[in-house]
Amino acid sequence: MMKKAVNHSRVQVVVRLRPVLDEAEIDVEPCVRELDGNSLEIFNWRNNKETLKYRFDAFYGKSSSQEEVFESSVASLLVHTLNGQNASVFAYGATGTGKTHTMLGRPGDIGVIPRSVQKILSVAKSESATWKYSIQFSYLEIYQERVYDLLVPKNHDLQIREDRDRNIIIPSLAVKEITSYEQFQKYFIPASHNRYQLCISHYTKMFTLLVTKVQQAEPFRKLTGKLLLIDLAGSEDNKRTGNQGIRLKESGAINVSLFVLGQVVDALNQGLPRIPYRDSKLTRLLQDSLGGTAHACMVTNIAPEERNYMDTYTTLNFAAKSRQIVNKPFTRESTEKPSRVTLKRKASDEHRPSAPA
Ligand code: ADP
Ligand code: MG
Repeated sequence: MMKKAVNHSRVQVVVRLRPVLDEAEIDVEPCVRELDGNSLEIFNWRNNKETLKYRFDAFYGKSSSQEEVFESSVASLLVHTLNGQNASVFAYGATGTGKTHTMLGRPGDIGVIPRSVQKILSVAKSESATWKYSIQFSYLEIYQERVYDLLVPKNHDLQIREDRDRNIIIPSLAVKEITSYEQFQKYFIPASHNRYQLCISHYTKMFTLLVTKVQQAEPFRKLTGKLLLIDLAGSEDNKRTGNQGIRLKESGAINVSLFVLGQVVDALNQGLPRIPYRDSKLTRLLQDSLGGTAHACMVTNIAPEERNYMDTYTTLNFAAKSRQIVNKPFTRESTEKPSRVTLKRKASDEHRPSAPA
C-alpha cells in the first residue's frame, strides 16, 4: 500500500530582542544590530571584519511591545484554534532573554498567555448568540522527561496517551473551565508559582487552552481546537549536543526535550518524511499541535549585551537554518563609548543590501 505524503505546515520562526535592563549598561554598544522587521546582525567572532546577518519570519527589536508580538505572531494562530484546529507557540532562548516576559509578562504589561485568554473570552462573548463556547485550560511542567501537573500538584509523572482521533491527551491532568478573566486569574496565578524543580531555568512550562464551540442552531456543528503556549527551559541546557548528543541524552546531561524539539522543527521545515515526535515528552505533547495541519510559531528570545554573545550566537544558529556573512565590520574598533546617536546612524547607513560572502 502506498503511503500518503503528509504536508506539514512550516513552523514560523521569529526573533525577539530584549532591551538592555541595567542602567549602567545602557550606553554600551550591544552585540546585536537591528536591521529591519525580518533581519538582524551580530558580529562574527571568528572574523572581526565580518558580521553575520540572519533573516527570520519576523524580527521584533528592543522597543517591540507585548501587543505587537501578540497581534503579529499569535493572533492569527488563535483564529485557527477558534476554527477547530490546533496551534502552538513556544518561547526558546537562554535564561534571562525574555521567554517568561514574552509568554507571561507582568501586571500591566501582560504577555501571550493572558492575552490569548482575553482574546478567546472576548470572541466567545461576541459570538454567544450563534455558538455556545466551552473554554478550558491546563498547566504542566516538564522536567527531566517527567510531566507534572501545576494546577493540582500530584507529585508524580503523568502518562501521555493518544486517543482514537489521534489527539494527544493526559488523562489525569487537571483541567479548569473558565468563563471570565477573573476566574482564569484565580486558578492561574497560584499555579504559576508552583514548580517541581527548584532551579528556575531547567524546566519547561506548558499552558494549554482548549476551546470547544457548538452551533446553537442547525446543523449544530461542533468544533474543538487547542492552543499550546510554552515557556521552554533555558536553551543553555541545549548547547552540548553535537556528536555527543546521543550519549549525553542517555546520561540525562542534556535537556532531551529541547534537543528533540530542535530536530522536530528542522525536520518539519526541511520537509523530511520522518518527524521524531516520539523521542521526547515535549515533542510527544506537541505532536497534534506542531506540523501536520497545526500552525506553530517559535519565538526565539535573545539578549543584547556582549557578555551574552555566545548564547545569542548559538540561539540564532539553532533558530535560523540559513544565514549570510556580510563583509562589513561591526563597529568594534573604538575603545571609547560610542554615543547612541552615532550607532543608530551607522545601522541605517551601512546596511544597504550586500552580496553574500
Ligand atoms: P527568561 O524567562 O528567558 O529567563 P525573563 O522573561 O525572566 O527571561 O526576562 C529576564 C528579565 O528581563 C526580566 O526581569 C524581564 O522582566 C526582563 N525583560 C525581558 N524581556 C523584556 C522586554 N521585552 N522588555 C522589558 N523587560 C524585559
Ligand atoms: Mg523564565
